[in-house]
Amino acid sequence: MSYIPNVLRKQVVERAENCCEYCKLSQTGQEATFHIDHVQPVKHLGKTAFDNLALACVSCSLHKAAKTTATDHETGEETPLFNPRKSTWQQHFRWNGVELQAKDTCGRATIATMRINRPLALAVRLEERLLGRHPEQ
Ligand SMILES: [Zn+2]
Repeated sequence: MSYIPNVLRKQVVERAENCCEYCKLSQTGQEATFHIDHVQPVKHLGKTAFDNLALACVSCSLHKAAKTTATDHETGEETPLFNPRKSTWQQHFRWNGVELQAKDTCGRATIATMRINRPLALAVRLEERLLGRHPEQ
């Protein structure tokens, strides 16, 4: 992981309204500090700059790792993962209760790659909903 200056981290957190930019989990109440994700990974010469960073929960960050594409299981095609700096979340995703649904291949590949609907994530979202922090509300 590369060093992110505190000022830059604060700007990224504010832009993201303190939520994971992929699964929308709120950082409030989570024990682990969220990661600053390089949307274009450092490995692929992505810069540590405001326009290439996104706030990501630990799970999304670790599952995404240095990927920018993934195989869409329905079409078998290599598909770009959701890029929060190039398109809006609403273009690719919608909530069905606490389950995240894809609107397109990009959304589908992102949900699968980051395991956004794994059982533990659904359980956390149910709790977040009780606390009034789930974004579907
Ligand atoms: Zn997440």
